[in-house]
Amino acid sequence: MFKKILIANRGEIACRVIATARKLGIRTVAVYSDADARAKHVAMADEAYRIGPAPVSESYLKTGRIIEVCRKSGAEAVHPGYGFLSENPDFVDALEKAGIAFIGPGALSIRAMGLKDAAKALMEKAGVPVVPGYHGDNQEPDFLKAQADRIGYPVLIKARAGGGGKGMRRVDAAPDFADALKGAQREGEASFGDGRVLIEKYLTRPRHIEIQVFGDSHGNAVHLFERDCSLQRRHQKVIEEAPAPGMPEEMRRAMGDAAVKAAKAINYSGAGTIEFIADVSEGLRADRFYFMEMNTRLQVEHPVTEMITGEDLVEWQLRVASGEPLPKTQEELSFSGWAFEARLYAEDAPKGFLPAIGTLEHLSLPEETARVDSGVRSGDAITPFYDPMIAKVIVHGPTREAALGMLLASLEATEVAGCVTNAGFLAALCRHEGFARGDVDTGLIDRDLASLIEEPEIPEDAVALAALTALGLARPPKGNDPFETLAGWRIWSASRQYALLEIAGERRDVEVHALGHHRFAVHLENGVREYELIDVTEGAYTYDCEGHRARAVVVEGKSELTVFLNGHAFPIGLPDTLSADEEAAGAGDQLIAPMPGLVKVLTAKAGDTVAKDQPLVILEAMKMEHTLKAPRDGVIGEVLVAEGEQVTDGTVLLALAEEATDAAA
Ligand code: ADP
Ligand code: ADP
Ligand code: MG
Repeated sequence: MFKKILIANRGEIACRVIATARKLGIRTVAVYSDADARAKHVAMADEAYRIGPAPVSESYLKTGRIIEVCRKSGAEAVHPGYGFLSENPDFVDALEKAGIAFIGPGALSIRAMGLKDAAKALMEKAGVPVVPGYHGDNQEPDFLKAQADRIGYPVLIKARAGGGGKGMRRVDAAPDFADALKGAQREGEASFGDGRVLIEKYLTRPRHIEIQVFGDSHGNAVHLFERDCSLQRRHQKVIEEAPAPGMPEEMRRAMGDAAVKAAKAINYSGAGTIEFIADVSEGLRADRFYFMEMNTRLQVEHPVTEMITGEDLVEWQLRVASGEPLPKTQEELSFSGWAFEARLYAEDAPKGFLPAIGTLEHLSLPEETARVDSGVRSGDAITPFYDPMIAKVIVHGPTREAALGMLLASLEATEVAGCVTNAGFLAALCRHEGFARGDVDTGLIDRDLASLIEEPEIPEDAVALAALTALGLARPPKGNDPFETLAGWRIWSASRQYALLEIAGERRDVEVHALGHHRFAVHLENGVREYELIDVTEGAYTYDCEGHRARAVVVEGKSELTVFLNGHAFPIGLPDTLSADEEAAGAGDQLIAPMPGLVKVLTAKAGDTVAKDQPLVILEAMKMEHTLKAPRDGVIGEVLVAEGEQVTDGTVLLALAEEATDAAA
């Protein structure tokens, strides 16, 4: 076994690998960019080395720097995590040349599976079923169009070098083919430097079911059962589970066999995932699943497999890479119970899932009820440089129903302030009836998106607690000082105070009367209600309102409060009364690209009413995403660019219509 390894990654996966290395008595070396100098993975490792500035192309993708750090630190092997260099065969070759082991498959296996078209051809030859379509060399637009006509619409055009859901276009009818082809080629070229495509029959009721495989350098290969990753948005996984709901034993066996056959066909060593797509228009059937692609690395969602099998997949990776045989044979492997993983991201679901950035002013993850794999701590920042993942929340229960209940409870207990997250969206998914029944397919989220992103109204209790906090009245009821217990009560003046709050974009002056003994009368929309603070400890409130005892957490930020109540996070603004006019005066009428880049997401169209600071465009520049926000309240006059368009620095992206007057509608 290795004595010292380097982890060429960051965030949760770097922390995850370090944890297992430590368990096995292996010393760890971290690398970091300037943006990560104080990151959790750096703090966890035994040693750490700076490898460059924040952009990944200047740090985490720098093969030479990483090899140099191996030399300096004496690391014998590199774990690549996922993303970054994990599926880069040139990196594996460079390591080999330098006499350093790669904790992953050989360069040949990575190359064989690196391009979707070649991988499909290889799998076809090995007798693994593939999605019907065209994956040959001819890239003539007319020829490809004829292939699409032959396959029959809808079809899916995929960039052969694509990944992470990028470079794909669904085409529903022949006249749309030419434009979609151009789009997929352009995206493939821009994101992966390869504009070649393949065409697949688009399955209309598909489930994404993948098989975890493992091979060793002694010619053995096994599978560790399936994961269902059908809950997706824009072809990206949102919640994953294992096993797959409703999976017939016969189909599980057929898929496991096909996956092992695929791994053996390329002499696979290490952890890998064979992704299949199953046509479930007539239910799950052993003759209706097709190879999509192989990911030659550890997958983001590997923990659900670990939970049901009790195996540590990173430990398996380390053993296999150091030359040991697989820890278990197929017969020795089994699974029990049910596991889910939810990906907690800094993103704004109601606003088109725009990636968000910010400082995690408050972070409380549900470590008592779930396994939490996270690469950030309270006080850390989510920057525009990397994946905006905050944590993976993983649960394991005896039954699917129990595990789903645990996942919901864990998400409801998750508290993040300083940055919007998709926690509410994930919790809404857990409450989705179809999902609860196990009736999943890759279209589920899109079909029910409106209800899944619906934001609950801010409850009056949250308003009341915010008002008490803003006025400094919510102090811990402890000690013997009689004046302490009379917070807010004044002898010489009326004990009446007003808190100015911004609730769902509207300002409200909330009147509060201190009644003494931690009791307050608060004027709310549905009348005056009496609140008694029973306990206040570090922002966690226990209060009583008219005979109802409840708990909430209030986190104070610079210009807003976040109230966590009933499993939801409610942001409440603390407007600065002086700056309001100033802001209005400075508002511009155009949204201008601050740098050259690719228009990745457009959330508004001409005629839409938008609020100041509402994210309107995501611009991708140097693989980073930048969110551009509305300069003021108003109506979009004109949208001058389209999604997928490359723009130069200074391009006007959209224009707001003339300032609206106060004329009544
Ligand atoms: P998966 O199926 O495991 O989600 P995909 O093939 O969809 O994997 O995408 C590649 C994986 O690499 C993603 O999971 C993504 O989170 C990860 N990834 C991509 N870019 C980065 C990055 N900059 N930092 C960390 N991880 C990344
Ligand atoms: P990536 O490399 O980006 O992960 P995949 O080929 O794995 O690309 O596809 C990603 C997702 O797109 C799948 O999980 C599935 O939801 C959807 N998808 C892929 N191929 C098809 C298809 N032929 N029909 C319907 N949906 C598909
Ligand atoms: Mg995939």
